[in-house]
Amino acid sequence: MSLQKGTKSIDHNLVIADRQFGAWKGRKSAIGNFKMIKLEAAELAAKIKEDVKAEIDGGLRVCLAAVRVGDDPASAVYVRNKIRACEEVGIRSEHHALTESTSGAELLDLVASLNARDDVDGILVQLPLPRAINETAIIEAINPAKDVDGFHPVNAGKLAMGRPVFVPCTPAGIMELLDDRGVEIRGVNACVVGRSQIVGRPMAQLLLQRDATVTICHSRTRDLAAVTRTADLLVVAIGRAGFIRGEHIKPGAVVIDVGMNKVSDSDEVRALFGSEAEKRLEVVAKRGATLVGDVNPSEAAEVAGMLTPVPGGVGLLTVAMLMKNTLNAARLRRQ
Ligand code: NDP
Repeated sequence: MSLQKGTKSIDHNLVIADRQFGAWKGRKSAIGNFKMIKLEAAELAAKIKEDVKAEIDGGLRVCLAAVRVGDDPASAVYVRNKIRACEEVGIRSEHHALTESTSGAELLDLVASLNARDDVDGILVQLPLPRAINETAIIEAINPAKDVDGFHPVNAGKLAMGRPVFVPCTPAGIMELLDDRGVEIRGVNACVVGRSQIVGRPMAQLLLQRDATVTICHSRTRDLAAVTRTADLLVVAIGRAGFIRGEHIKPGAVVIDVGMNKVSDSDEVRALFGSEAEKRLEVVAKRGATLVGDVNPSEAAEVAGMLTPVPGGVGLLTVAMLMKNTLNAARLRRQ
């Protein structure tokens, strides 16, 4: 498998071959000391947002309405980050923060009013919603033309048919990252662990559309490691800290870690971060926890060819792609 794009050329055959001969275990190899490549995403996320900003500076008026219900602190942070990104790129935003006691009917009314407003291009309802509200009914109430999260069945269906319009932001961002780093997709064995509507399923569709041979794994998959070890490209979105270990990874594979989990136990931090544990323990001392993905980073570093870091990887692209989707919604509605 060869990976190339402009100056970022990487010979992946060499990566795989080198690792398969054991050079990845820290010994000097034919191509020098082997080092896993961290797929940092900050630069690409900034570039995506700059491109959106350039178009808006050119005179396009774009508005995103973000709706949040209840007091979930993580949701509050996510929405705040999205609003901040809107400010950065020049998208006008509205933040509708509703109380925990909001009923499904009230939320449906708000969605209907946002659907009807000509000045609103994108509607984002932050999930999860309080238990008393039927999430599916709310998602289905959003006008598919304003569904910038890409969760509406019309948009999910179009994606499944190979005619995507709005694609969920996280898998869309992953595709941008793979393309930006010249990772070959056509014909490779790709494995997606997790089958959620927002990450796993759309991810598998996008990879299939680009001619990867795709396997989807989930909690009932038998002998997960035997399946994931066949993958040249492994995408993990399960929500379990450091669950994917060295034994799950094919030597030289490109590993995309979508997970965002908090760990605070010092033994767990040491087991996950190896030589970087002390730095992470400082974060725990300061903030009470540190973020880790679904992949054990120190074990993956011994086997994988490339790995997205957590934080600093996929998460940054999710917000950038929301900006891109919102811009596209405005463009499409004005066509
Ligand atoms: P969900 O909980 O909706 O789905 C989890 C999936 O993982 C399910 O399909 C489940 O299988 C599968 N799974 C759970 N345990 C195992 C296991 N032991 N072996 C194999 N499969 C398993 O999660 P999401 O997709 O919403 O999120 C996944 C992770 O990604 C979370 O950590 C989340 O925080 C993070 N995330 C990060 C984003 C970002 O921007 N970086 C954006 C969205 C999510 P089954 O279907 O059988 O139950």
